[in-house]
Amino acid sequence: MESLDDLLAMAETAHGHLCAGQILGVRMALFGLERLGIEDPRGADRKRLVTYVEIDRCATDAIGLVTGCRLGKRALKFRDWGKMAATFVDLPSGRGVRIVAREDSRELARRLYPHIESKGQQQMLAYRELDSAQLFTEQWVRVRVDPAELPGYKADRVLCPRCGEGVNFGRFVEVEGQQLCLSCAQPELRYWVPEE
Ligand SMILES: [Zn+2]
Ligand SMILES: [Zn+2]
Repeated sequence: MESLDDLLAMAETAHGHLCAGQILGVRMALFGLERLGIEDPRGADRKRLVTYVEIDRCATDAIGLVTGCRLGKRALKFRDWGKMAATFVDLPSGRGVRIVAREDSRELARRLYPHIESKGQQQMLAYRELDSAQLFTEQWVRVRVDPAELPGYKADRVLCPRCGEGVNFGRFVEVEGQQLCLSCAQPELRYWVPEE
C-alpha cells in the first residue's frame, strides 16, 4: 500500500483539491483495510472488497480512490444517510468493519492548533496526525451483499414497454402484467420533468 502522503497526492489529483475530507477519507479507508487485513485493494485483493459509503461528500471520493471501489464497478454502494461513515466488507467472509468519524475530532483539531484561524487548515493538519482511535469509532458487522448486487453479476435486461428504454435486471416492477421501468411505474418519483 502506498504511503499516506502518496495517497493524499493521488486523492488531490482525483478530487481536484486537497481538503480535510480527503485526509479523513484516506485515513478511514486505510483503517478499514488494515482491520480487514487487505493489503492490495486495487490489485491482488480487488475482488475481495465492497464498500458502503453513507455520505456524498469529499471523503467519499478519497474512500473510492484508496479502496478502488467504484460506482461503475458496483463495488461502491451509496446509502444517503448523511453520516461520515463507511463499511468495508470482505466478501469471502461476509464480515465487515463499519467505521464512523468521531464528531469530537473537530474539537480536537481546534485544541491542537488554536493559533490557526481556518478550521479547514486546523483539521487538515490534525487529521494527518491523530490516532485512528481519536478519529474514528469502529464496529464489526455482518453484511449480506445480495448476489444481484455483486460486481460482475449478469442477468436479463428488459425493454420497458412504455418508454422503450432498456433496464437492467431487477430494476423494473410488474404493473398490470407489464414489466415497467421504475420511472414509468412511479412517475411521481422522477427527479426530472419533461421541458414544455
Ligand atoms: Zn474536498
Ligand atoms: Zn419506462
